[in-house]
Formats: sequence, C-alpha cells, structure tokens
Amino acid sequence: MTGPVIHVLDERTVNQIAAGEVVERPASVVKELVENAIDAGADLIRVEVTTDRTHVTVIRVQDNGVGMDRADAALAFREHATSKIARIDDLDRVATMGFRGEALASIASVADVTLVTRPKGGEVIAGTKVRIRGGGAPEVAEVGAPEGTTLEVRDLFFNTPARRKFLKSLHTELAHIHGVVERTALAHPEVSFRLVHNGRERVATHRTTDLRETAASLFGTDLHTDLIPLAFEASPVKVGGYISRPAHSRADLYQVFLSINARPISSPAIVRALKEGYGTLLPADRYPVAFVTLTVDPAQVDVNVHPTKKLVRLSREREICDAIVSAVRAALDGRDLLSAPAARPAPAWKLPAPVPPRTTGIAEAPALYARSDRRLRQTSLPLAGAERNLLPEIEVLGQVDATYIVGRAENRSLVVIDQHAAHERILYEQATEKQQDGQKTQELIVPVLITFTAQEAELVKDALPALEEEGFALGEFGPDTYAVSAIPIVLGRMEDPAVVRDLVSALIREAPRDPVGRREAITRRVACRGAIKAGDPLTHEQMRRLVDQLAHTKSPYTCPHGRPTVLSFSPDELAAMFRRT
Ligand code: ADP
Ligand code: MG
Repeated sequence: MTGPVIHVLDERTVNQIAAGEVVERPASVVKELVENAIDAGADLIRVEVTTDRTHVTVIRVQDNGVGMDRADAALAFREHATSKIARIDDLDRVATMGFRGEALASIASVADVTLVTRPKGGEVIAGTKVRIRGGGAPEVAEVGAPEGTTLEVRDLFFNTPARRKFLKSLHTELAHIHGVVERTALAHPEVSFRLVHNGRERVATHRTTDLRETAASLFGTDLHTDLIPLAFEASPVKVGGYISRPAHSRADLYQVFLSINARPISSPAIVRALKEGYGTLLPADRYPVAFVTLTVDPAQVDVNVHPTKKLVRLSREREICDAIVSAVRAALDGRDLLSAPAARPAPAWKLPAPVPPRTTGIAEAPALYARSDRRLRQTSLPLAGAERNLLPEIEVLGQVDATYIVGRAENRSLVVIDQHAAHERILYEQATEKQQDGQKTQELIVPVLITFTAQEAELVKDALPALEEEGFALGEFGPDTYAVSAIPIVLGRMEDPAVVRDLVSALIREAPRDPVGRREAITRRVACRGAIKAGDPLTHEQMRRLVDQLAHTKSPYTCPHGRPTVLSFSPDELAAMFRRT
C-alpha cells in the first residue's frame, strides 16, 4: 500500500485556490477592478455588464487612470505582483484600496481576461494587450489604445464548475454588482461612475466634492433636502457625511453606507452607534438613511483582516463609536426634524380627554382612536380556533403609556399585555388561516407606484412570485417603477404608499429562498405592519376586543417573533415583590 504523495502545487492551482477567497462571484470581479481603477487615479470609471438569460457573461471595466507600460502590463497578472507596497512596514501607511497583488492573478486563473492599457501622458502611442485564459501563459501584443486601462473578463468560473454552481440567480448577482458600484461611488464622490447593463445605463454619478450629490444621483433627488450634514471631530476620528431626518427612516439597513478613509466598510457596531445617536427619534425597528465618512490615521485601522476587505477591525472602536453618537446628536440637535409627516399619534398624556371606562362605541370616541379601530377591525373575524381559550378571563383596567393593557385575571393575577405583540400574534394566526383558505388578496382603489433603487429593482424580479403568493400584485410600470394594484387582505385598508413601499422593499430584501421560510418571513412582516403599535391610544372597548381576540389564538403567550405578549403576576408574586411574606 502506498501512502499519500506530498507534492508542491503549481502556481496555476495555487491561484485557483486563492481565487476562491478573492473572487466569489461576478460582483467580486467588479469590486477588484473598480478598486484598481481608483488606485490608478481614475476619475471616470465605466462598468459594463453583459448577461444572457442565466449568467453574467462579460464584465468590462474601463478607466482613465495612469495606465501601464508593456512591462507592467505583463507583470500585473503575476501572483503577488503589486506596485503598491514593497515591504511589511508599508502596510501601516497604505492608502490604496488594493495591495496584496493577488486580484488580477486570481481572476485570470478562473476566467478569460483581456487587459488593454496605455500609460497616461507617455510618448508611446501604442498600447499593450494581454490575454490570459484560465491562468495559462499570457499572450502579449501591441494595440492601439486610449490612455488608461480596460479589463474585460469573460467566462468567469469556466474551469471551476463547482463555484459556478454556487452562483445565485442572475438577479441576485446583478443586485450585488449594483451594490458594489453604489458603495464604491459613495466612498469616492470625486470619481464619475457609470454602470451599464446590456447596453442600458443603470447608474450614473458625476464627479463632485459633495457626497450628497452622489447620493442624490443614486437614490433620487428628493433625498437631497432630507439629508443633514455630519461634522464632528474627536481624536482619533473625523466624522463627515450625511444622515436623514428621522421621518425618512427605513425598515432595513440598505441605505446605510459607511466608509473609512474612502474604503467602503460594514460594521454592526457603527450602525448601533448611529441608532444610539438618534435615540428615541427612531423606533427600535427602523434605520436611518446615512452616508457616513470616517477619517482616521491609517496606522490605527487594520485593513488586512479579510481578503475582500469589507469588514474592518477598528483598533479604537469604542472611541470611534462614541464620536459617531456625538456627531449624530449634534447634527439633529435643535433642528426642525418635522419635514415629513409625523405618522404617530400624539402620546397618551396629550390626549384631549381622559379615556372614560366602558366607552361603548367608536362613534363618540376621539378621532384619534379611529386608526386603531381600523386596524383592530382587520382581526374581528372569528378565528378557527375560536373555542380554544388558553388565557384566563381578563377584566381590562386601563392602558399605560399607550402601549400596555393592564388587567385583572379571574385567577386574581395582575396582567400586563403588550398591545403590539398581542395584535401581531392575532394577525399572524389569522394570516396563516387565510392562507389556508386561499383568501388573501384585495385590490387597491388607487394603485401605489413604487420606484425602486436600481439594486432593489433587480431583487424585485426574483421576489415577485413570492409576493404574488402572499397577495401582492405588482406590474412593471416604467424603468424601475412598479405599480402595486393589490395587497394582502390581512393588511386591511393600508393604502398609505409609504407603508406599502416599506413593506415591499423589506420583503424583497429579507425573504429567504426556501418557500416555507419565505412564507413565514412574509407573514410575520405583514402581521407586524398591520398591528396596532406601541404608542397607539386605545379605548376601553378596543382593549377589550384585543384581549378577547388574543384569548382565541392558539399561542396567546408569545408574538410571532417569540417575545412575550402577556406578563402576569399572581398575588403570591406580588406579595413577594412587596416583601409581605
Ligand atoms: P493590487 O491591487 O493588490 O496591487 P492587483 O492584482 O489588483 O493587485 O493588481 C496588480 C497590479 O496591477 C497593481 O498593483 C497595479 O500596479 C496594476 N494595475 C491593476 N489594475 C490597474 C489599472 N486599472 N490601472 C493601472 N494599473 C493597474
Ligand atoms: Mg487590486
């Protein structure tokens, strides 16, 4: 029997393995090529993507940067070939996006790559063309070429079929490419970006010194007036960029863009700091729109953490986060934040009149209660499990903080019910039941038009069947614009375009790929959106109805996310808390 034979891998194999780290998907190619263009000092970068029905077939990135002479062009594809660092100490000072010198070698090992380049301002008129397929020998030739560099990548993963199989749907891959271009453009307002897909221009930013212009080019000009500048400095960090007024919040993180020293990054800690800065101006489940630029001494930020360099370790994270909290507070402080409609009703302590016990009908209750009533009416149908009653009889005593219903249970316990969680549970069970009945959709009298960002528009196509399953009807209406003509019946009369928009964009982002998980995610969201909110004042009658409906659910004690709906304190527990025993 022979044992395994140890052998040294050839360079081609090494590069293919390394490629697995650097080049995950078409968007990673775009990212590396765009970064190289920026490092080359380009201020005009054109990304062109060609697709067939299932795959990205060609990625072409053209820049007007410094270009390369013939010797450099041939070297660029060699493993660990970089012009950016020479020794390890340089890492502390590196200001460029790339420095490992492995991107081009990796890409060329798993694709068919053609480089055409000519140095800027040189005497040579001829440019150089280098072609490498699957890490083979480079073919070098002289060609006529404009100044700058163009890289064309075809047949990505042609020789690594396993990786090709892992690619997600075409729309998902395109959405990732959009994401890369958006993030890079926002980290580099001084560069004009174009993204062209099958001949159609999808993104166009213009060279500017004001990040706000770039944001507006990407996400629409209405954003422009809604952004508040950040300007704060506390060693070791300088915080700049823009954040939105609280009313412009979103249900997801999609429009939170962060960069450190012009490098796009993601950092959950920084997102938390942003939210902390807003404090109670933002509900717990909302995120601002934010374009935050951080400038720090490169010696204090380790950029060499992950090959794709998106997650950065911050050596002084605590101080940086504190600076962000202060920056956001300072920006919001004393500003008129009410540029957009205040969706929430006045808090309970500002109610025009105290709530009389046993109000019997909504007619004589203040108009303020009408919305709660509409929401509650959505769940007035008897549930199938109507005979079940897992809750004890509860006599409602009142509402606290427009959020909690306080009652007395037949077993002499004190009960506190979270009105939002309780209503979510009811809506969730009802939605599940309606799905089983096949009754799920209602037409809108006036269709709601939603214009998606380019990235979202790609995702929508993927999510359409699932959304339709849930009772949405969406039709293409124009470039990136859809008309929503029907919504799930469980949403009731929720025709507020902002709500429909939020819901749809959250759904297309978070919906898992497997149908069961997706159904579940959608039902929960729908339930959450339709439910009475914390802060909604309720009449006594409304509270009674809510508790009644909760009692008829199959799992009255938790909301669909698993949080409690009811807390109860028995006389013994109360006695213990008051130390009466
Ligand atoms: P890195 O960016 O980490 O140095 P790459 O493999 O991405 O490694 O690129 C290798 C080298 O090729 C770069 O250091 C640079 O000298 C050169 N190069 C790559 N792309 C361009 C470009 N668009 N313009 C000019 N030079 C480039
Ligand atoms: Mg590079």
